[in-house]
Amino acid sequence: MKDILPFTRPSIDEATIAEVVAVLRSGWITSGPKVAELERALAAYVGGNRHVKVMTSATGGLEMALKAFGVGPGDEVIVPAMSFAASANVVVRLGARPVFVDVGLRSRNLTAESVAAAISPRTRAIMPVHFAGLAVDMDPVNALAEQHGLRVVEDAAHAIGTRYRGRPIGSFGDVACFSFHPNKNMTTIEGGALCYGDAALTLPLDRERFHGIGKDGAGNVDVFTAGGKYNLTDVAAAVGIGQLRNLDGFNAARRRLVAHYFTRLGNRVAADMLPLPGDEGHSWHIFAVLIPLTRLGISRDDFVARMREAGIGVGVHYPSIPGLTYYRSLGNDPAEYPNAARIGAETVTLPLFPAMTAADVDRVCDALLALVAH
Ligand SMILES: *Cc1c(COP(=O)(O)O)cnc(C)c1O
Repeated sequence: MKDILPFTRPSIDEATIAEVVAVLRSGWITSGPKVAELERALAAYVGGNRHVKVMTSATGGLEMALKAFGVGPGDEVIVPAMSFAASANVVVRLGARPVFVDVGLRSRNLTAESVAAAISPRTRAIMPVHFAGLAVDMDPVNALAEQHGLRVVEDAAHAIGTRYRGRPIGSFGDVACFSFHPNKNMTTIEGGALCYGDAALTLPLDRERFHGIGKDGAGNVDVFTAGGKYNLTDVAAAVGIGQLRNLDGFNAARRRLVAHYFTRLGNRVAADMLPLPGDEGHSWHIFAVLIPLTRLGISRDDFVARMREAGIGVGVHYPSIPGLTYYRSLGNDPAEYPNAARIGAETVTLPLFPAMTAADVDRVCDALLALVAH
């Protein structure tokens, strides 16, 4: 049997592996000098003179940021209906309510217009998601937030290396949260980072990250709040330092492979099957297309199985959040967000990772076109 081409695979180089081994041998393996080094390196990478905190996941980071902004029971946070469930779960976990807005069919991103229509007196924050690595049009979203006194917590899980009008995501705005899950554009195995401008957030974030611990005036350890436990290890940070060194190369490889996908598919499938091509600021976390399942008379499960028979692994990112069992149980109706519902029903994620070759893209396109083009 042919090897299955996976939809994603991390690239870890030998230098990074050697650094991980050195940390394991160093006698200090949890949060320490490597975490501090990764935070400095991320701050230098995003630019804009930002504060950076790393933690064990983007999910934890988003929750910490919302909490630091005081989001709690009775509050509403505006979240796109098309994202990973974590974007909404963190809001619920704080006792607040995610208010969903629909996204553009090809951009998969929310717009300031959709957000404006969802603002209520209870709205406390907006959570734009830079879906697949394409920046949300942030200037009007940030202007709207300023006008209404709202916080903006960017779910930038897909967007390390993404630029918006030339500015790196994370270098501006209230706070952006990156994910370093192994499927993301760079990894710390599990991990995430917050980039923010306001130094007043550092204290609540530090306390939330590590047991609420701080030092009193005399330097003795004390506990000031019932904090959580989200600190990253130095072993994980060493992985991240090596990944960050290679990130621009990884993202350039992703862009080259995506250009090849567009060349192969652009004239052969309906335009609305494809994602927006984006610009040079797109970090191409995933390349996801919509499959005309009704026309083909097959289910997505059938489609995924047939691609697999052809040796191609595909993913699904994501079902629409309001359609998930839990969010339906809260009274959400997925039909109110028709673009997210359609994307959620028809999307498949094609293989895309830095170590892929143009020949791999050809293999994927041959299999896809054999299934959809007639
Ligand atoms: C991956 C992801 C997250 C969560 O990231 P973790 O680091 O796994 O917690 C949040 N939002 C989106 C859009 C994601 O894709």
